[in-house]
Amino acid sequence: MTYKNIYTAANATEAHLIKGLLEQESIETSLSGEDLSIGIGGLPTHVIQVEILVNEEKFSAAMEIISKYEQTLREPIQDGKSWKCEECNSVNPESFEICWSCQANRLTVA
Ligand SMILES: [Zn+2]
Repeated sequence: MTYKNIYTAANATEAHLIKGLLEQESIETSLSGEDLSIGIGGLPTHVIQVEILVNEEKFSAAMEIISKYEQTLREPIQDGKSWKCEECNSVNPESFEICWSCQANRLTVA
C-alpha cells in the first residue's frame, strides 16, 4: 500500500482533527513527523509540523475533504457551521471540538 502526503498540519492537534475528518469518510490515515505522545499539557506553539498521509487510492477523495476544510478556514463563518475560537480567533469547521490552532475547547455562544 502506498501512502501519499496530502496535508502538512501546523501542529499535532490539527493533524489529529484532520485525521478524524478523513476517518469519518473511511479514509485511513497515517501521521508522520510528530511525537505521538500528544496530550502532555502545555505543548509549545512551535511544535513540529505533522504530515498526514493517505492511501494513494483514496487520495482524491481525501483531497476533496481537505479542500473543503481549507475553504472553511479561508471563508470564516459564512456557511453558518464553522466557529471562531474565542482564544485565538482561528476558524474551525463545525466538526472540530477543539481549536486546531490553540487547542481551546469550543465554547457555545449563548
Ligand atoms: Zn484557538
